Amino acid sequence: MLTYTYKSKGIFALTEKPKPTILHERDAIVKVTLASICSSDLHIKHGSVPRAARGITVGHEMVGIVEEIGSAVTNVKVGDRVTVNVETFCGECFFCKKGYVNNCTDKNGGWALGCRIDGGQAEYVRVPFADCGLNKIPDNVSDRQALLVGDVLATGFWAARISEITENDTVLIIGAGPTGICTLLCTMLKNPKRIIVCEKDENRLRFVSEHYPDVLTVEPHECLDFVLRNSDHGGADVVLEVAGAENTFELAWKCARPNAIVTVVALYDKAQTLPLPDMYGKNLTFKTGGVDGCDCEETLRLIAEGKLDTEPLITHTFPLSEIEKGYEVFENKSDGVIKVAVECC
Ligand SMILES: [Zn+2]
Ligand SMILES: [Zn+2]
Repeated sequence: MLTYTYKSKGIFALTEKPKPTILHERDAIVKVTLASICSSDLHIKHGSVPRAARGITVGHEMVGIVEEIGSAVTNVKVGDRVTVNVETFCGECFFCKKGYVNNCTDKNGGWALGCRIDGGQAEYVRVPFADCGLNKIPDNVSDRQALLVGDVLATGFWAARISEITENDTVLIIGAGPTGICTLLCTMLKNPKRIIVCEKDENRLRFVSEHYPDVLTVEPHECLDFVLRNSDHGGADVVLEVAGAENTFELAWKCARPNAIVTVVALYDKAQTLPLPDMYGKNLTFKTGGVDGCDCEETLRLIAEGKLDTEPLITHTFPLSEIEKGYEVFENKSDGVIKVAVECC
């Protein structure tokens, strides 16, 4: 079968590999219908994910049809249309039982697909712990509508969930890439008084203004002033930092009002400074981390009910055989790209 494979630093290539087989009773084999390209794939390509294994098939956000299941799999059956979760988790350890699936202690736990084991930019993928990692797509939800459920939408949903947003709040979201926009969509479900999106890229700002006209938008250099003018208590009540750029962590806590919640979703290339003397008395609460991606059933229900719609984020589509073109567009942020879908069969 055809796969897109991490060869060495800087090099991904279309590669033929044998079709995966069931290796464990909790595995499933999924025939991938649609996969996407994520910025984490680019991090692997650029060699900034040390645990990524050379030779693995990349891709960790996909939907497909269950082709085969192991003897212990009970939640899905052959022929089901499913989303695949970016995170592999056992569902049984201390952390999984508390819903902290990002810290699953199983040796395959965490981000394994398309990083340490073969992922989904391929015709087929083997999914470990299929009962936890696969969610059935409702009949009235298309593959394109469901494509982002397992990764960027899961992240946005988790970020909004832990941020304790209320209807009186001014919420600042820094970063309007795919995860930032998913965070915005999930924040909108909480009906806060105001939402401000800060982003430097003009295409992305335009995308937000066009699709979500009630949302206020601002560029980073004007953000602090703008937030002070457009909030009720000297800053945002909740800040979600989804950009991960050089100065965006600093911007996040500076834009927060006293006693605000600052949720850091972003993954930084470099260490960040938490200047406690400068923020002393501001009494901020920081929440950080990697997504606990265990709300996919709920996000699929919200999509089915028409309350969440990530389809407009998919701006480009290529067949697997032309995936390199998709990477080129995504990597160069050209042609107004937000998300690239890859048709795998
Ligand atoms: Zn990703
Ligand atoms: Zn676990």
